[in-house]
Amino acid sequence: MNWIPDPQRYEKMKYNRCGKSGLKLPAISLGLWHNFGDDTSHRTKQAICRTAFDSGITHFDLANNYGPPPGSAELAFGRILREDFAGCRDQLIISSKAGYNMWEGPYGEWGSRKYLIASCDQSLKRMGLDYVDIFYSHRFDPETPLEETMMALDHIVRSGRALYIGISSYNSQRTREAVKILKELGTPCLIHQPSYSMLNRWIEEDGLADTLEELGVGSIVFSPLAQGMLTDKYLKEIPEDSRATKGKSLNPAFLSEENLSNIRALNAIAQHRGQTLAQMAIAWVLRGERITSALIGASKPEQVTDSVRALENLTFSKAELAEIDQYAKD
Ligand code: NDP
Repeated sequence: MNWIPDPQRYEKMKYNRCGKSGLKLPAISLGLWHNFGDDTSHRTKQAICRTAFDSGITHFDLANNYGPPPGSAELAFGRILREDFAGCRDQLIISSKAGYNMWEGPYGEWGSRKYLIASCDQSLKRMGLDYVDIFYSHRFDPETPLEETMMALDHIVRSGRALYIGISSYNSQRTREAVKILKELGTPCLIHQPSYSMLNRWIEEDGLADTLEELGVGSIVFSPLAQGMLTDKYLKEIPEDSRATKGKSLNPAFLSEENLSNIRALNAIAQHRGQTLAQMAIAWVLRGERITSALIGASKPEQVTDSVRALENLTFSKAELAEIDQYAKD
């Protein structure tokens, strides 16, 4: 029998307006960077995506290079779209990106028009889509004129390959420049995707958070759980099936005694609030309604369920925020 999504799903999620656009995004979105490559079973990927959609998560974030191998996450998501989410395309916001190394030779990375348009076409083919909802420049390219990268994004929208465009990890100054160019071209910048968590506060220091608010650009913050460090999984030891043991992007050196002691203190604050540390970490990035969406990852469907319960308490007292500030350090 075909899977039927939970009819109550939209009552479980909060939807936030993305900057000054007409688009609303779920307060929590799901990213497919890890756990959607050929090293994970289709059953697990399917269960994670079904649980997310059942929880009201309408936004799934991908990139050309997610895997391993690069491209396999988009292929896996294409299968889920066909088999599980068939008939739901208009209820989904699907994004992809190009910027990091994808294929050999001089046209397989960074920000040229040649690379971005070819990569977008490849992503659409892998997912079996006519268009993505959001297409991003994944990183600023210091060697390509910013005008060229932005004109390529504008073309991607005008040619029907994407509905909206975004930028990822551009600093505050570069963001101002990119947003200005896009405005002149007539394709506004919908959204910025930076990293942000209690252990990574660069968007506050760089002024990016203020800039996005001033410019009316939405924000979706990646790795709000600091790749799993802001959960209870590393409090006692490094478990076997964790990202830190899989030789992936989470270097076990990040789990220094100093960081762990801050994480334990944050865990105690979360317990006091009646939340898991993961829930508090997500609520913290969403505090004050400046951030449109927290972009989480998950290796199991239960993690999605746990994380979505962050929405049950998004309010922090001044005293709680001050206490968190003592331990929420880079
Ligand atoms: P998170 O910080 O949410 O880390 C996710 C990991 O945390 C999971 O894989 C899991 O680790 C652990 N975890 C998640 N929920 C729980 C829970 N409730 N309890 C215990 N552990 C939990 O985000 P990611 O680093 O995965 O990034 C999220 C998304 O952001 C990516 O998929 C991608 O879409 C985007 N991204 C964008 C980048 C960019 O340059 N634009 C760069 C990086 C990410 P484990 O696997 O060990 O179980």
